[in-house]
Amino acid sequence: MTLVEAYTPGHVRAASGGETRLLRFSHGPDDWYTGTAKRALELWRELEREARAELFVPSGVAWFFEDSEGWALESARSLAEEGLETELLAPEEAGRLFPSFDPTGLRSVLFEPGAGVLRARKATRVLAEHAVARGTRVVQGRATPAGGAVALDGETLEADRVVWACGAWLAQLFPELVQLTVTRQEVFFFGAPPAWQAPAVPAWIDFDAGIYGVGDVDGRGFKASPDEHGPPLDPDADDRVVSAETEQVAREYLGRRFPALANAPLVGSRACPYSLTPDQNFVIAPHPEHESIWLLGGGSGHGFKHGPALAEYVERLLKKDEEPDPRFSLEDRKPRGGLRTRN
Ligand SMILES: Cc1cc2nc3c(=O)[nH]c(=O)nc-3n(C[C@H](O)[C@H](O)[C@H](O)COP(=O)(O)OP(=O)(O)OC[C@H]3O[C@@H](n4cnc5c(N)ncnc54)[C@H](O)[C@@H]3O)c2cc1C
Repeated sequence: MTLVEAYTPGHVRAASGGETRLLRFSHGPDDWYTGTAKRALELWRELEREARAELFVPSGVAWFFEDSEGWALESARSLAEEGLETELLAPEEAGRLFPSFDPTGLRSVLFEPGAGVLRARKATRVLAEHAVARGTRVVQGRATPAGGAVALDGETLEADRVVWACGAWLAQLFPELVQLTVTRQEVFFFGAPPAWQAPAVPAWIDFDAGIYGVGDVDGRGFKASPDEHGPPLDPDADDRVVSAETEQVAREYLGRRFPALANAPLVGSRACPYSLTPDQNFVIAPHPEHESIWLLGGGSGHGFKHGPALAEYVERLLKKDEEPDPRFSLEDRKPRGGLRTRN
């Protein structure tokens, strides 16, 4: 197997190059993603054991709802069917999860104790090293489609199967086939006392307010990231400097929900690409003209956690053990939110 990478696995311009990514099971009524997240966690754990690396932080994830209780109840049902634990809490009860918490405006809190956070950049690098140890060849270079083959630095690579899993770059490689919008998303890390460290402090998602965050992992700071879709981002050319406006949104929320952090200093920030499909379902589809070529992407701000389970799924598709699910096809899609937050 050959893995072609334009930069280096886990580089900071890739979506997978962020410090942390949530692994949560709740997806409202959508059972497919719940099952896939569950399988993915088993596989991440397997990678941890085989590579002797700590990749998953078992912090749990707390969801805050202002009025989307239907989504919360559907998630709780879906998780129960998968044998996954949930706790539906009254907003005041959620105060036990955080060193300082103001439940004003919330109607319910759904806690997933078995969920948590992946050290994404580290996991990506470990995965690539593990693949190399098992015989994968990693080639640095920028690949371009050449009919049913791959052009790379003046050479042509031939393969029985080619999977273009190119994150935000998929949109430039196949502009006529994929409907992807690449947006700039900003992430902020605030300096917080040790009491705010994960795994003691859970990750959190305010579904209705459209903002999420993570307790302090590895001393990086308490993370808060507004989930509203940002302006277009060129993943190669654009600076990754964050805006004062989005920082203010994160600060305002922190002060409101976690009052002890109201004046926490900003200790880090990042800007990163979402690759959004119109309905937030991924792209997992064969090329319409070349049966041996597959397109994989459209992570839509929730793809990282599923990675290893998606790899298993794609393997079944490549072996024709399973038919591709039409929801991931290249057909036109109706705009829809709700697979991440209300956005
Ligand atoms: C701010 C932010 C927060 C997020 N939060 C979460 C979360 O909490 N949980 C979650 O599950 N997901 C989350 N996501 C989404 C998740 O990060 C992505 O869905 C996932 O990382 C995408 O992985 P990928 O491999 O498709 O793309 P990428 O990680 O971007 O990797 C694509 C790789 O392909 C390489 N490449 C591209 N084109 C070429 C080419 N032509 N030749 C060679 N190499 C090429 C690139 O260099 C890159 O390394 C978040 C995303 C962002 C931006």
